[in-house]
Amino acid sequence: MIQWYPGHMAKAKKEIISNLKLVDVVYEIVDARIPRSSRNPDFDEITKRKKKIMLLNKEDLADERITDLWIKHFKEKGIEAVKVNAITGKGFKELEEKTKEVCKDILEAKVKKGLTPRLRGMILGIPNVGKSTFINTLIGRKKAKTGDKPGVTKSLHWIRTPYLDLLDTPGVLWPKFEDKTTGFMLAITGAIKDEILEMEEVALFLVSILKNRYPDYLINRYKLDKIWEEEIKIIEDIGKKRGCLVSGGEVDFVKASTVLLEDFRKGNLGRISLEEP
Ligand code: GDP
Repeated sequence: MIQWYPGHMAKAKKEIISNLKLVDVVYEIVDARIPRSSRNPDFDEITKRKKKIMLLNKEDLADERITDLWIKHFKEKGIEAVKVNAITGKGFKELEEKTKEVCKDILEAKVKKGLTPRLRGMILGIPNVGKSTFINTLIGRKKAKTGDKPGVTKSLHWIRTPYLDLLDTPGVLWPKFEDKTTGFMLAITGAIKDEILEMEEVALFLVSILKNRYPDYLINRYKLDKIWEEEIKIIEDIGKKRGCLVSGGEVDFVKASTVLLEDFRKGNLGRISLEEP
């Protein structure tokens, strides 16, 4: 687990800004389940003069209806967004089309100058949103794991695709914990280590969303008889159904919380979005 200090952050930011000068378009990857919490708010400032496409990744885990609302939301703000699955490459074709559309003027200018109409792009995102997976799938083989090391200047390599040269080193910034909700959202999706927040607290937060928005998913997965108003009682029921007990027959809340969080992360409950626009 790396620590981010203001110095790190400043250096990483500077590096991203200097790499951005080399590209025509930037792809900002977010987790489609939490498009608000899975980005560093500084990305807006950093990319404000660049053409940008949002990639709503892990679309297979998110609620499609809500992902479409996010796409609409970004479009209203003048930003194109595409839903993708970085593992399977679903959405990559649409991404290619959107990229060409967004960069139409650049492509035309290149043709006018007698240059090959290729584009240069770069990936941006916080840890765990799927940057390395995206790059690997795009090139159809495994590149080195990008890692989350800030401010490590590497030599620049470009990944060639038929229409785009992509910088193989993504811009990484740690998320900003501006409020407790952001921390919980990141913890639920596994973007920050489980030690940082209490598992039970994280699970309670998840249940507080699920009981209102996806109660049937809880009922179906754990064969619950009802959904209690109190989150703790829902977790207790999950523990009972799953045999998460300590000696004496009491429910082991940490274990029950872990079962729920693992099921959520694997998509076993169903396709769930935690944030709406
Ligand atoms: P990075 O830190 O941004 O480079 O993220 P990684 O590429 O290492 O991905 C983080 C985790 O998310 C890995 O376990 C990936 O397998 C998983 N992942 C990435 N993209 C997807 C996706 O589209 N769908 C699903 N279900 N998992 C994904």
